[in-house]
Amino acid sequence: MSVNNPTSTGFGPVSSNRHQLDENPLHIAQRQIERACEALNLPTTARKLLRQPLREFHAMLSVQMDDGSVEVFPAYRVQWNDARGPGKGGIRFHPQETVDTVRALAAWMTLKTAVMDLPLGGAKGGVICDPKHLSKSELERLSRAYIRAMSQAIGPDIDVPAPDVYTTPQVMAWMMDEYESIFSRRQPGVITGKPLCVGGSIGRNDATARGGIYAVREAANLLKIDLKDKTAAIQGYGNAGSYAHQLAVELLGMRVVAVSDSRGGVYAPEGLDYRKVQEHKQRTGSVVGYPGAQTISNEELLELNVTVLFPSALENVITERNAECIRAQIVAELANGPTTPEADEILHRRGVFVLPDILCNAGGVTVSYFEQVQNASNFYWDEATIHRLLDERITNAFATMHQTATEYGVHNRLGAHIVAVKRVYEAMKVRGWA
Ligand code: GLU
Repeated sequence: MSVNNPTSTGFGPVSSNRHQLDENPLHIAQRQIERACEALNLPTTARKLLRQPLREFHAMLSVQMDDGSVEVFPAYRVQWNDARGPGKGGIRFHPQETVDTVRALAAWMTLKTAVMDLPLGGAKGGVICDPKHLSKSELERLSRAYIRAMSQAIGPDIDVPAPDVYTTPQVMAWMMDEYESIFSRRQPGVITGKPLCVGGSIGRNDATARGGIYAVREAANLLKIDLKDKTAAIQGYGNAGSYAHQLAVELLGMRVVAVSDSRGGVYAPEGLDYRKVQEHKQRTGSVVGYPGAQTISNEELLELNVTVLFPSALENVITERNAECIRAQIVAELANGPTTPEADEILHRRGVFVLPDILCNAGGVTVSYFEQVQNASNFYWDEATIHRLLDERITNAFATMHQTATEYGVHNRLGAHIVAVKRVYEAMKVRGWA
């Protein structure tokens, strides 16, 4: 494991002459933070600290494959800022992962925990690998290797990982077990998103989607839209997207007319039954080919004339290339970073109400925080308590974001970023960092 000095890792410029089409997520996160700093008129020292990670850890993981060969996987843990509390954020296993993506996700985690007013900082992990081509035992060895490499960097009061794209409660269980083996003690609070039987929290599975649904409810109240029988489209059908399908129907009475995953999408104007679509995906590996529905592409899904669009997959799907064509009234970002800053301006001008990622998908980390609290006290709450506390957090964060966006005359995302950056700055200031 090497500890990198972030100032020497070749970060791109954060200047105003950046290229318009720069879709590097790190540069996007840095520009967003810079704008919030400008709005708040923060001193240079604070800006310097906020625009790069405090620490990062890089490792090459050697993992034995089932056929006896050894493969090497690059792995990262980035701690963007922990002024408000221990680092917090998921670990992503993805073939297209880059260190700059992990950095951006760590930056967004910092803003997310702050806008939700959780006593946590922001961090993120990633491994460049293709979990779809790993056996269960290879995945276990990779998960354990990650923890061996990062064991000094993480801990319940240092930095607490969790699931992200392509990592599951089972992966969290292996990771916790490896950490506990290294330190010879039970430490369930080292990681969240665990299975219930080893210290997971009830309500963590659907928490990302549930938080997003509560946020959509708040937005609809504000905009005076009655969501009953109104339409929704969901791009991405992983943990967030598939539960969003279920909860949009069950909690909001909406009609989900289109869903998609990395292989493509399906569309049915009368609405898609979430049980049947989930069962089809379970059986075939994709939503594509779902009987009785038309096939559509991910690009077409994003441009459907629906009331709510849920981008629930990866970064940069709403850009200046398609933002003029988005017809949804509400864009509820369950993915991290799905909308570029150029697209934000276009959507804002066109009156599309964007629920920004750091608020809309914060249900996951919020219930992760509840999981940590339960682990620390070794006492577990019931589902109604989790749902109530999550609802309160989302509803309060929504109100604060909306109030700030109105006060500054800016779009919701910048409003949320101003709230978050201000809180992180206050913590850095009282600590004497800036
Ligand atoms: N990976 C999730 C996110 O992006 C959850 C993080 C957590 O629970 O710590 O918010």
